[in-house]
Amino acid sequence: MATTDTPDRPVELPDIEIRAIAKSFNGMTALDEVSFTVERGEFLAIMGPSGCGKTTLLRILAGLETADSGTLLSRGKRIDQIPVHRRNMRLVWQNYALFPHLNVRNNIEFGLKLQKLERRVIDAKVAAIAEMVRLTEFLDHRVTVLSGGQRQRVAIARALVTEPDILLLDEPLSALDANLRVHMQSELKRLQQTLGIAFVYITHNQSEAFSTADRVVVMNRGRIEQIGAPREIYLWPRTRFAAEFVGSNNLLEGRIASVDGNVVSVDCGAGRFFVALPDERLAHGYRPAPKATVTLVIQASKVRGHATGVANENQVTAVVTDTEFTGSQIVQHLRLEDGTALRMIAPDPFSGSTPGPGSTIDVYWSPEDCVLVGPRILPSSQNIPGTKSYVRMGG
Ligand code: ATP
Repeated sequence: MATTDTPDRPVELPDIEIRAIAKSFNGMTALDEVSFTVERGEFLAIMGPSGCGKTTLLRILAGLETADSGTLLSRGKRIDQIPVHRRNMRLVWQNYALFPHLNVRNNIEFGLKLQKLERRVIDAKVAAIAEMVRLTEFLDHRVTVLSGGQRQRVAIARALVTEPDILLLDEPLSALDANLRVHMQSELKRLQQTLGIAFVYITHNQSEAFSTADRVVVMNRGRIEQIGAPREIYLWPRTRFAAEFVGSNNLLEGRIASVDGNVVSVDCGAGRFFVALPDERLAHGYRPAPKATVTLVIQASKVRGHATGVANENQVTAVVTDTEFTGSQIVQHLRLEDGTALRMIAPDPFSGSTPGPGSTIDVYWSPEDCVLVGPRILPSSQNIPGTKSYVRMGG
């Protein structure tokens, strides 16, 4: 169903609209008035720590769980009271939930048989979806002889063969090894783009969310911390939690000392640091509140080694406390003079010249590479829903 805002520009109603959904179990809040939309054909990833309410939300969407309050709409129509099998969405689990005694074909066609379709229609639909998920040659194999990745493809094919408008996926790749996981991520993205249907995808895995999704929802304790494009969430975390959960960020607590044009100076325990607010944010009226307590966020990859004889802003002396080799990079753990911990990515893990534990080094970061999280002043006309008193001010 579509409405129009102007006669010649149709607006498609979102595939899903979640309005103030709340759910408690035995008095414990699992979802605290969660609201967001899944736009038409969008790949939306929901990310957050264990127990933050991701699965509960997906189960409510699928109709397997009932919300205590709130409203669910799909393409403008209420779906709260619609039973599971009549919703236009299918759910794929991390443990596949296949029928072990059936072969691949029989697993995939299960939902079609329930619909009592003609055999030739069923065969055509199964053949088409098997081709799409690259399972054609395995149709007569028992599912018990398949690899983890192949089993997950069967589960996905079984969900897609009934042509839902929305696919809900609960950690679908978590049982797979690292290489297969990366391969299946791109397979899922390809499938979603080919079909053009919305995917709502739960994952613990940040790189999985960022590499596949159009938008990412960051959840914490039954609430939404931030929704945005992967790049936006990565570069500009809006809350302290999002800054800690996403990326490899350093967080320094401080207080706004002054604001001069787009440059904000912040007094932290380790010294006075400068943040350059980007023009685009200033244009939208973002201003840090004077004297406000804020958190300065600096990505570990933006902390750089200082070259002798060069004066840099945001320069500090640090002691290396630990050096961690992760395979592709070296993470150096530093301690500043006031005891603040800082991480940096060493420039070249193979150079062999990375200063070891106990070394004293000078490091710096650019004012353009910092983000501020904390109270801000917005013109009253720019009250952004959902941001409350905390919003990113720079980055
Ligand atoms: P994970 O990533 O570990 O799967 P999650 O973010 O999906 O976690 P949920 O499974 O939605 O989290 O759980 C949210 C909260 O609700 C948790 O505290 C959990 O213990 C609780 N919970 C979920 N289902 C039930 C249930 N059926 N009965 C009681 N408590 C529940």
